[in-house]
Amino acid sequence: MLTKIIAQSKIDHFAKWFDRADHIVIVSHVSPDGDAIGSSLGLWHFLESQGKDAHVIVPNAFPDFLKWMPGSKDILLYDRYTEFADKLIARADVICCLDFNALSRIDKLAPSVEAAQGRKILIDHHLNPDDFCRITISHPEISSTSELVFRLICRMGYFEDLSKEAAECIYTGMMTDTGGFTYNSNNQEIYFIISELLSKGIDKDAIYRKVYNTYSESRMRLMGYILYSKLRVYKDCNAAMISLSAEEQSRFDYIKGDSEGFVNIPLSIKNVRLSCFLREDTEKAMIKVSLRSVGDFPCNKLAAEFFNGGGHLNASGGEFWGTMQDAERLFETALEKYKPLLAAKK
Ligand code: 5GP
Ligand code: MN
Repeated sequence: MLTKIIAQSKIDHFAKWFDRADHIVIVSHVSPDGDAIGSSLGLWHFLESQGKDAHVIVPNAFPDFLKWMPGSKDILLYDRYTEFADKLIARADVICCLDFNALSRIDKLAPSVEAAQGRKILIDHHLNPDDFCRITISHPEISSTSELVFRLICRMGYFEDLSKEAAECIYTGMMTDTGGFTYNSNNQEIYFIISELLSKGIDKDAIYRKVYNTYSESRMRLMGYILYSKLRVYKDCNAAMISLSAEEQSRFDYIKGDSEGFVNIPLSIKNVRLSCFLREDTEKAMIKVSLRSVGDFPCNKLAAEFFNGGGHLNASGGEFWGTMQDAERLFETALEKYKPLLAAKK
């Protein structure tokens, strides 16, 4: 049995909307990750199974390693199908906002969602959600939005109707937001849910391979290059940093998603508790900052204070406008500030 973490009043409220709704739109954050796509498609499969006209809309493209997911071909990319997506959003009876806590996280989609008359529900696990939905289901203690979607569907009494396809998507989101159940994954109930998903016939081992073992040769070589030539380890701060310039990306035929997960690699070095990955984003003319930590070091605080960002305690990010060298220096300045906390014996 699962703990009833979502308030009954919210379940009842959503169930009422759900009964009356014909057209439902699901939106998720910019540069969607496994949990954004997994939770959205998990919910989408369920809604479709209940005869709803449902659509998933995300601001921009998602990585190739998620394209095997059932239903992924039906996802609308807002930057490509803006007009059609705007129509769907405007006529939706219900808009489900998944895996983000502020409208700014859905980028160019934000104005349409904000202006829409449909009833809005937030299902998310990021800290401090903004108040832009009538129902806010926000649980930062839960490691993925996909898990919340599973819990919502079950609490509404539809576990039996959950298809294998929905289960595959939900599992993918739970797996990717916990690094294959290696962090934020000590809650026993995660494994109860996995067992329930397995009962739907999913092949969790195959899902792991489809997500994680699909590297291109160039990504593998890029990984070798950054680890050999670009990794900086700050021993006295128990921290590490990797940067990747636009020139280096083109040298290794970089395509979107090629650096996915790079930020986690330095955490396998003994004692490293904070890792930073800086990537020049030519599309947006800025430097994308990714941070990961282990234990109780709040990398979201560092992201907010130095890189206009935020996120979770152990996984956060931000943005920097300036040269790569300046971004690197700023990270080193941040390290100086947090040195006492980082250097403290664990
Ligand atoms: P990633 O490193 O995978 O891009 O992001 C990890 C997490 O950091 C995301 O799930 C999100 O919570 C947070 N994050 C990433 N970039 C930003 C950003 O620019 N602003 C804020 N507020 N959070 C971010
Ligand atoms: Mn998530």
